[in-house]
Amino acid sequence: MEPPNIERLDERTVQRIAAGEVVERPASVVKELIENSLDAGATRVAVSVEAGGTEGIRVRDDGVGIPADQLEAAVAEHATSKIGDIEDLDRGVGTLGFRGEALYTVGAVSRLTVRSRPPGADAGAEIAVEGGTVGEVRPAGCPEGTTVEVDDLFYNTPARKKFLKRTATEFDRVNAVVTGYALANPGVAVSLEHDGRETFATEGNGDLRSAVLAVYGREVAEAMVDVAWAPGGSETDPPVRGVTGLVSHPETTRSTREYLATYVNGRYVTASALREAVLDAYGGQLAPDRYPFAVLFVEVPPGDVDVNVHPRKLEVRFDEEPAVREAVEDAVEEALLDHGLIRSTAPRG
Ligand code: ADP
Ligand code: MG
Repeated sequence: MEPPNIERLDERTVQRIAAGEVVERPASVVKELIENSLDAGATRVAVSVEAGGTEGIRVRDDGVGIPADQLEAAVAEHATSKIGDIEDLDRGVGTLGFRGEALYTVGAVSRLTVRSRPPGADAGAEIAVEGGTVGEVRPAGCPEGTTVEVDDLFYNTPARKKFLKRTATEFDRVNAVVTGYALANPGVAVSLEHDGRETFATEGNGDLRSAVLAVYGREVAEAMVDVAWAPGGSETDPPVRGVTGLVSHPETTRSTREYLATYVNGRYVTASALREAVLDAYGGQLAPDRYPFAVLFVEVPPGDVDVNVHPRKLEVRFDEEPAVREAVEDAVEEALLDHGLIRSTAPRG
């Protein structure tokens, strides 16, 4: 055997490999784009996708916009307006994004256009990126806010494209992501369209139950009860600042966990500790393998939660996990008891 010849990969190859870690499928693109819109202070976010997002994704918002002279930076690697340095990260980030890599990586594996007009600006501008090649900034007619279009995702990474599932499956995942943000942000009007047909549209009136009605329908909305838990006592900085939201009647369930949504400091997370705490609160009232609907917001001191565990930023780690778990279980249990939906058990000690 010949000795190996070790060579540094060219930049294009490195870029595409890295892109695959952030952008796995249409739903991950949609997630990044919605987060950008929310970070931009949008009050309306309209998502439309073609063929489950595999052919086209468009997210339009009415946020702060990107000035023409910043468009190139917006699509550049590790370029962000959201944090300055590692100290900012240690203090806890207030924005959903901070890595400055989403637009860059999406641009590496698709045909990307970012078109924007900051409110009050006379004109808009756009920049296009195709498979990592960045075009010139040009003037473009557009409404105030930002529109990002992603066409032909993975057209230049056939191996990754092959991993995509059927259109319907990809759309389900897109739907789950958009639903998650719509529920987390009842004050923002979020809409989703698939192949030209509206899937749902929330009003953005700030009312969580109205958002639940828009995405899950009347039957579910009416089966939800309010959760409103606040720490007792006089601790100045309690490990859990509040648990609020809605949970369903124990008989209004589904066979998958995807309707049990938890948010930490406004960020959608999957944390088995939170999910288990919710399920524990129902005691034995749930049928086997059935999961309730829940939209639960847990507030903790920003420095106590590590959201930087995974590039897709879904898993979190808590400094005070037992306290968080207990607060969530108490909060849900209290709500269910108040509405006579579970029987009271002996006080836990
Ligand atoms: P990050 O969100 O981590 O900063 P992105 O690659 O997603 O990185 O975006 C890069 C930058 O582009 C953002 O920091 C922001 O300044 C700008 N940007 C992206 N999307 C929008 C948007 N919808 N509205 C306003 N600015 C945006
Ligand atoms: Mg971002």
